[in-house]
Amino acid sequence: MIKIIQGDITTLAVDAIVNAANQVMLGGGGVDGAIHRAAGPELYEACLKVPEVRPGVRCPTGEARITTGFKLPAKFVIHTVGPVYREITAPCGGSRPMGKRTRRAERVPRLHGEPEKLAACYRNSLALAMENGCKSIAFPCISTGIYGYPKEDAAEIAVREVEEFLAASTSAPCATVDEKNAEMDVIFCCFSTHDVAVYERLLK
Ligand code: ADP
Repeated sequence: MIKIIQGDITTLAVDAIVNAANQVMLGGGGVDGAIHRAAGPELYEACLKVPEVRPGVRCPTGEARITTGFKLPAKFVIHTVGPVYREITAPCGGSRPMGKRTRRAERVPRLHGEPEKLAACYRNSLALAMENGCKSIAFPCISTGIYGYPKEDAAEIAVREVEEFLAASTSAPCATVDEKNAEMDVIFCCFSTHDVAVYERLLK
């Protein structure tokens, strides 16, 4: 079941809340900072123990790691790293003088795998929740703060991935873990009324 909530994710008594972390996983701004403050210093200690896959990287972009929630009402924190949104414009086509047509061509966005990386955040977080027996999970709007992902585009990806996950887990034949999680509640925890409206539009 999918729900939309407006509020502070650190207050939710769910099995897992998802943190929009950074690769080093030692706290930061936005929701990451709020989660670390609410969970207490034990969360930092637990994150320190997550092995680095390369210097300064505990969780590569698109992947997810799990820790206890410590002082949070949530049992677990699933840390995932969303992509930084880097839309660039297409080259304007050599040294031709800038006319109306070239200016329009320049506005065509070129991404660097951000949609796939963001989708992977949702898929990997849900898979980790499932492996750990979670029946409820709350997501913030990953990448849409400091990382600059356009909110509507990010929400479309989030809704698509969650709906696909829930459809797959309810239709899976009698695999024990899937059965146990067939009724996972997925909450989109929006900080702003604008985010709520975006999700409501997509889910109606
Ligand atoms: P990112 O670096 O992935 O963009 P941010 O933390 O900057 O992460 O923002 C991600 C989203 O989390 C934004 O929509 C922001 O408004 C929201 N957010 C910030 N604090 C909280 C909180 N305490 N609870 C829920 N959402 C939050």
